[in-house]
Amino acid sequence: MDVRTFWLAGRPATGDAELTVTNPDDGREVGRVSMPTEAQVEEAVAAAHAVAAKAAALPIHIRAEALAHVSRRLAERSDEIAELIMAENGKPIFWARGEVGRAVATFRFAAEEARRWSGEVLRLDTEPAAAGRLAYVSRVPYGPVLAITPFNFPLNLVAHKVAPAIAVGAPVVVKPAPATPLSSLVLGDILAETELPAGMFSVLPVANERASALVRDPRLPVVSFTGSAPVGYAIADQVPRKHVTLELGGNAAAVVLADADLDWAARRVALFSNYQAGQSCIAVQRVIVERPVYDDFVTRLLPAVDALVVGDPADEKTQVGPMVSEEAAERVEQWVREAVEGGARLLAGGTRVGATFAPTVLADVPADAKVCREEIFGPVMVLQQAASVDEAFAMVNDSAYGLQAGVFTRSLDIAFRANRELEVGGVIIGDVPSYRADQMPYGGVKDSGIGREGLRPAMEDLTYEKVMVLTGL
Ligand code: NAD
Repeated sequence: MDVRTFWLAGRPATGDAELTVTNPDDGREVGRVSMPTEAQVEEAVAAAHAVAAKAAALPIHIRAEALAHVSRRLAERSDEIAELIMAENGKPIFWARGEVGRAVATFRFAAEEARRWSGEVLRLDTEPAAAGRLAYVSRVPYGPVLAITPFNFPLNLVAHKVAPAIAVGAPVVVKPAPATPLSSLVLGDILAETELPAGMFSVLPVANERASALVRDPRLPVVSFTGSAPVGYAIADQVPRKHVTLELGGNAAAVVLADADLDWAARRVALFSNYQAGQSCIAVQRVIVERPVYDDFVTRLLPAVDALVVGDPADEKTQVGPMVSEEAAERVEQWVREAVEGGARLLAGGTRVGATFAPTVLADVPADAKVCREEIFGPVMVLQQAASVDEAFAMVNDSAYGLQAGVFTRSLDIAFRANRELEVGGVIIGDVPSYRADQMPYGGVKDSGIGREGLRPAMEDLTYEKVMVLTGL
């Protein structure tokens, strides 16, 4: 099998070691990726640093056209890229196509936002002392961005870092997840077709130790990290003076209130606890149901879970595929076993074949069990009962995390109350917490992170406001 090159300052390169990428479904080798040497990593960082001023001054039409080109080319190569995501990640083809479609949109939104990226003029003569003065406020990139990304959306979460960086004129060095580097390298192939200056992007599939050195490198003043909370906060602690964005994990809750459409809620909860084998930061993990409708909801939920199509990721109908590795599925199995030993009742699933863990429903789970308190990141949901809306919202907030929450209700009053009271970055009314439109602000509070993605908010996070005062007008 040919060894795939990586992207070093806009050109393909080969290093001194190899990373083997395997298909989680059958353990087959999907590809081998060349890994950069220390000298090549240094070259990529030096190039990003050297091109930063030129990148910031790049005309908007060139940035916007480059972003639009990436969007078009991703769309043209959609089938092939979806197959690649499926192969390296195990994601069923239906969801893999969905991810490519989202990345197409992410780059298109970025192209549109780039064209709207403009300064602001402020008259300062609102005060007599400032008469004759005017301020021009623009946003300036902090400098080259180090983008560290997770395995679960190996294309679209890279897109969420690369696209806003290009839009604001910042070079970007991508460090993809070791399990899933291939789709980000294809993104590199497409970026190389644009007019962006050499040095504007690198995709470096380095081991975590080398990534730590990148984190500490002062020539990369921004670290944009998506991944788990322990790794994210350890990175932030290493570089207190850098501008760090953390998009971290969660144990998202869906609240089903007594006035909800229970059929709809049951179908959505069943699917979005298990899509991507539960490996999404906003997958439904905790399901908090108002007591009067609890039995009725469970009666509808269990057949919906049972009806999920689990199995071969290549089958168009498959909804739930393998987890990223057998070890990951074994960890989930262990957590479920611990919960059951602690008194939880298993209403569905709990079984594992290789890397595939069956969609699992747990009830009567001890409140301190890991499946409640921590991020399970697997196809497991925990059912809980609440005596009132107050109690349901308190249960949502009884978490170290706060990414998104879903509330199934038909009441506008309760919707606004949820928005006021839930300690999360996003409240989804009438649907699961797993809903995300790529152009909306997205990010967490508490241990779920710092900063926001979603194009415009990410562009703001990568830049600072600079003011120029004009005198004597
Ligand atoms: P992870 O934290 O294990 O790894 C994330 C990235 O960090 C990988 O590229 C990894 O190689 C790198 N990394 C690990 N140690 C490092 C170090 N010492 N220095 C520099 N880089 C290092 O996460 P994962 O298992 O790939 O992804 C799953 C996690 O990501 C879950 O917690 C999930 O909730 C979270 N996630 C969050 C969001 C979000 O937008 N909030 C989206 C997707 C996933």
